[in-house]
Amino acid sequence: MTAKILDGNALSAKLRESLRHRAAELTAQGCRPGLAVILVGENPASQVYVRNKIKACEAVGVHSERYEFAADTPPQTVLDKIAALNADPAIHGILVQLPLPPHYDESEVLEAVAAEKDVDGFHAENVGLLAQGNPRFISCTPYGVMEMLSAEGISLRGMEAVVVGRSNIVGKPMTLLLIGASATVTVCHSQTRDLAFHTRRADILVAAVGKAKMITGDMIKPGAVVIDVGINRLPDGKLCGDVDFESAKEVASLITPVPGGVGPMTITMLLANTIESADRASAR
Ligand code: NDP
Repeated sequence: MTAKILDGNALSAKLRESLRHRAAELTAQGCRPGLAVILVGENPASQVYVRNKIKACEAVGVHSERYEFAADTPPQTVLDKIAALNADPAIHGILVQLPLPPHYDESEVLEAVAAEKDVDGFHAENVGLLAQGNPRFISCTPYGVMEMLSAEGISLRGMEAVVVGRSNIVGKPMTLLLIGASATVTVCHSQTRDLAFHTRRADILVAAVGKAKMITGDMIKPGAVVIDVGINRLPDGKLCGDVDFESAKEVASLITPVPGGVGPMTITMLLANTIESADRASAR
């Protein structure tokens, strides 16, 4: 079997087209969606991510503001900027690009963002709402994964889902969403004793680890849906996922590539959350 490849670029383009329309409608009603992005430090990968997010905003008609701070900026300066953005009616979403420099308390900064503008879904209140099955904002990467599964018409009810990785950004919210969709979910992490035992049982396998090609074809159940969230840079400069694509595609029924799979969906769902937030603000 050779798996069908889930094209995140194509699905993103389709979703962004409808988001562009919604943004134009809101703008015509006097509520142009606005996103503020905060970047602290000079991490080159973060700079690329921020640039891509700003470009994506422009393409769908979302207003964007970018605030950059040097790595040695006192945290209070960033907290003051967040407070000002919380109070700014032109801004509906605030995103703090992670990671922050080591002298920052990440959770203090994330909690400073108004929960109603937390389009990344990282605020404790929004995590709690998601855990209760009543989400306000779903964090963008797991949200994008769910959209990909839904676009393929995959019903998760009763499926064995295995999530590899338990981070707050990907693994945990992914797990909550899969439970919410009535899958039976196993979560694996660095202390899992026999990873392959679990992954081989998965009808849906989500890899979010950050280790190049660690999930190989022999660890995958024939016919499984394989979602590769990982983004790793190989010594030759090329990007690859946590899944060994070449061997996995011979076993899986559906698989996401890296690049061009989950990555573009993450930014698309950030736009969706920002526009949704503007929609809510316009209704208030
Ligand atoms: P983290 O480093 O925060 O979490 C990695 C997780 O993997 C941890 O839970 C860790 O376990 C687990 N892990 C580490 N080693 C193993 C192992 N050998 N076996 C099983 N589990 C293991 O990473 P993130 O969740 O932030 O990101 C994961 C990957 O996804 C990265 O490559 C990142 O670049 C990518 N990413 C991609 C996005 C996209 O848009 N496509 C967005 C966000 C992230 P433990 O908890 O025990 O340490």
